[in-house]
Amino acid sequence: MREYDYIITGGGAAGLSLVYYLLHSPLRDKRILIVDKTEKTQNDRTWCFWEPNAGPFESIVYKSWQHLSFYTQDLERHATISPFTYKMIRGIDFYRFVNAAIEKSKNVDRVYGSVETIVNKEGKVSVTINGVSYIGRWCFNSILFAPIDKLNYNYLDQHFKGWVINMKAARFDPEKATLMDFRLPQQGETRFFYVLPIDQHRALVELAIFSNKRWPQEQYDVAIQKYLNLHHNIYKEDFSILEEEFGVIPMTDFPFNQREGRIIHIGTAGGHTKASTGYTFWRMQQALQKMVESMVASGDPYPAKASNFSRFKLYDSVLLYILEKNILPADYLFARLFKKNSFSDILKFLNERTTLTEELKIVKALPILVFSKVMLKEIWLRLKRKSLY
Ligand SMILES: Cc1cc2nc3c(=O)[nH]c(=O)nc-3n(C[C@H](O)[C@H](O)[C@H](O)COP(=O)(O)OP(=O)(O)OC[C@H]3O[C@@H](n4cnc5c(N)ncnc54)[C@H](O)[C@@H]3O)c2cc1C
Repeated sequence: MREYDYIITGGGAAGLSLVYYLLHSPLRDKRILIVDKTEKTQNDRTWCFWEPNAGPFESIVYKSWQHLSFYTQDLERHATISPFTYKMIRGIDFYRFVNAAIEKSKNVDRVYGSVETIVNKEGKVSVTINGVSYIGRWCFNSILFAPIDKLNYNYLDQHFKGWVINMKAARFDPEKATLMDFRLPQQGETRFFYVLPIDQHRALVELAIFSNKRWPQEQYDVAIQKYLNLHHNIYKEDFSILEEEFGVIPMTDFPFNQREGRIIHIGTAGGHTKASTGYTFWRMQQALQKMVESMVASGDPYPAKASNFSRFKLYDSVLLYILEKNILPADYLFARLFKKNSFSDILKFLNERTTLTEELKIVKALPILVFSKVMLKEIWLRLKRKSLY
């Protein structure tokens, strides 16, 4: 039986990013096995995120914007987001890019199959794939095996459907993207569109909904078409659909297990998704780069026992609770946030890079009584659970 230094279960965004960082670190000669149930040959998703500098995957950024817009029925805001750039990476470009790096390396093996079990065994990890066992010194797992406790933690599905449309006539300003457009009935849910123009003819137009009730597929399509008619004066005969995207992201403050002995959970399964927004890609890059640095320095992905309290997790819980319980209408809440703060301050806050003083300014824009009440409730819950997570 072949033994590996690292077995990476799940070769999606997290698994492949980790391999990429390992191959660009002093650990590049370690024996690595990467497992996925399927080969990535489709553009199965696009990732959007923002960052202030060039990132490790800069060369495959498909499109980027520095000018964003925000809309509700009563508010319209447009701004440049310096020092940030809002970026889009297509799944297929990412898979090909990392696969090219893997192909150049002699010490990365791949297996396509279903991961059945991952268990700690005598200081190592045993992974069963289609009935065959593989041994690793460490396993980095991005497959969500354990269910999320939706009863005791705040939870919302972010379900979304998008079309990449191709207009017959030039229509879009490719330098300007719409981050959030709340101009549709909210009906107790959080519903918004975003429009990401790729060039003058093509744009990704997507409807995102935070709610625990998914829609039939045709309902998303009808809503997207209606939005294009009403707010962009675009009719069915004006465009063709080049690609469609549908997805669901779990938004939750459930404390995902990040480590079980030598099994390290990464990606969505490791809690890298931001609970209040669903954005994952950039956060997971930060976490994985740190992990590799730590492995280089100490051999362990998490060397020191750090405090698990994070005030950002607390803000996430508060926002999630307000949205889940529909304590305030989402369009009203976001309008207040965007009316009183600059886009770049909000983006910095969502990237968890703000200082406490900056956060107070942002939070002040929200109805303070509601926010404080929910925050106290969340603190009390954490004390009751004896976990500051
Ligand atoms: C359509 C879509 C669009 C998204 N857009 C954004 C975005 O714009 N910005 C952002 O920040 N986040 C976005 N996300 C959220 C998040 O970034 C992605 O879900 C991201 O792919 C998560 O990475 P991951 O590695 O945790 O999961 P995945 O990329 O899903 O990887 C998990 C891998 O595990 C494999 N697998 C599962 N079970 C098994 C098994 N039993 N055996 C073997 N292999 C298995 C799967 O085939 C998959 O390849 C999006 C999510 C979706 C679904």
